[in-house]
Amino acid sequence: SQAKVKYPKAKYGGRSTVTLLPGGGIGPELTGYVKEIFLYAGVPVVFEEVKIDPSSDSNEDLENAITSIRRNGVGLKGNIETRSLSTSVMSRNVALRNELDLFVNVFHCYSFTGIQSRHQNVDIYVIRQNTEGEYAMAEHESVPGVVECLKIITREKAERLAHYAFNFARKNGRKKVTTVHKANIMKLSDGLFLEVSREVAKHYPEIEHNDMIIDNCCMQLVSKPSQFDVMLTTNLYGTIVSNVICGLIGGAGLLSGGNYGDHYAVFEPGTRNTGTAIAGKNVANPISMLNGAVDLLNHLELDHHARILRDAIMKTVNEDQIHTPDVGGSATSTDVVENVLKHLAQNVKPGLVF
Ligand code: ADP
Ligand code: MG
Repeated sequence: SQAKVKYPKAKYGGRSTVTLLPGGGIGPELTGYVKEIFLYAGVPVVFEEVKIDPSSDSNEDLENAITSIRRNGVGLKGNIETRSLSTSVMSRNVALRNELDLFVNVFHCYSFTGIQSRHQNVDIYVIRQNTEGEYAMAEHESVPGVVECLKIITREKAERLAHYAFNFARKNGRKKVTTVHKANIMKLSDGLFLEVSREVAKHYPEIEHNDMIIDNCCMQLVSKPSQFDVMLTTNLYGTIVSNVICGLIGGAGLLSGGNYGDHYAVFEPGTRNTGTAIAGKNVANPISMLNGAVDLLNHLELDHHARILRDAIMKTVNEDQIHTPDVGGSATSTDVVENVLKHLAQNVKPGLVF
């Protein structure tokens, strides 16, 4: 990205320090596999781990996490739980993105040849507004029984996001951007988002631009996903379309997403699930988090390590077809990780750190 040079990267003795937020549910086991794999492959990354107590009403843990990412410039995370029912304690995931101004979520949604799914050849980038819109968290009960919830769209943030999406399309050889909205009903808020995207589109004449209403978009995705290339959308619609696409290609356990701002980047499993019900059972699919680790390695420009890990993941999923139950297999999480390590063994000399 064009902002890349600006990212602070904590590097001591040739090793990058990366903030690791295991989060709740399946987060600790999945981030644990990443640590194991990095150690085995001699990846020059040191994790600074910050645990966040889900039951606490205090934001101290979260502030430590934010300070750590500010120092290191980059993080890898599981989904952070917020168990407090107090309305003064907001979602830590949302707070983290807002505090670090991680204004865009980039989610590459694609199908795997080794996984049976509703559609093959899906290849869509969802570029999602990550710090305002429906997640503005401005809710209040004006009088008992009447709750108001503000959805906030600003020209400034909509413009920054639209430029990001069109630039992204340009740099990555993509042909079309589709703005996904509900401007027919939310005429002012989504209306502004759509209007801005149309204005910005004019600066990128070689990229085709169209728009689609969110509900029709969900139907079109299920019936003919090949019509989409890059999607540009608001916070809530972004998570909806991402989850629809994940359902089409094999579920929540495969893909990763990146959160970016001008200064920091944080990687995570794409659909941000906690996975409370499957935690600690050795059944969670580790692939989404491992793909997040590949994104992290690419971001740190550790190209060799990114390539060998990505290769080991794809061979495990597509050729060896070592699949956890969520994608129709009977392998355990550790079977998948061991198979990844087996492929990595062909590319690394254990004990040799490079
Ligand atoms: P949320 O955290 O949003 O409540 P859930 O944890 O309920 O989401 O996850 C949604 C669904 O996706 C659940 O059925 C969960 O088991 C499944 N899921 C999410 N991540 C994984 C994973 N890594 N491996 C297998 N299943 C997963
Ligand atoms: Mg749940």
